Amino acid sequence: MSDNDGLQYNESSPVLSETYDLEAAMASEQPLKQPAMRKLSRAMMPAWKVRQLKIEQGGMCAICGKEIDLSLPREGVVDHDHTTGEIRGVLHRSCNSAEGKIKNVAGSWGAKDMSPAAVRDYLRRLLAYYDKPGCGLIYPTHVDAATAKRKSADKRNAAARERRAQQKAARAMRDQGRARNVE
Ligand SMILES: [Zn+2]
Repeated sequence: MSDNDGLQYNESSPVLSETYDLEAAMASEQPLKQPAMRKLSRAMMPAWKVRQLKIEQGGMCAICGKEIDLSLPREGVVDHDHTTGEIRGVLHRSCNSAEGKIKNVAGSWGAKDMSPAAVRDYLRRLLAYYDKPGCGLIYPTHVDAATAKRKSADKRNAAARERRAQQKAARAMRDQGRARNVE
């Protein structure tokens, strides 16, 4: 099997459409048919990424929905499912990294089970939990954002006042010393 024809059949997956010409389909602006799990060659990756982002995703990241600027080096990455190998879409590098971390944390800390089904179930439960109304009481040590901001401003102002007082005292001592030398 050669790699340089751009496509490889993935022998572990059933080939549903042997006649589907991915390369020809990529040259058109039409959405691609699901090409039945063929392996994309390394050589075709860059062209596939540009096409996928522009035509299938409208220029937007498949997770956050914000624009991906491919003129920036390394901003857009091709994300794949590490269990099946199937490509899922083009993401921001940062979104790809977030996805991997969220999956790992949800599996290892949350579900205590790294299987894709357990991770998905945990994330669904987490979102449902966030959407649920709270208990209507405020946590004892909670400080609201406005108060926290005011407190930190007060602290900064107090520190600045202190600095100014010390500078003033140092100046006064210097002046006193000078006055004594003149006497
Ligand atoms: Zn993104």
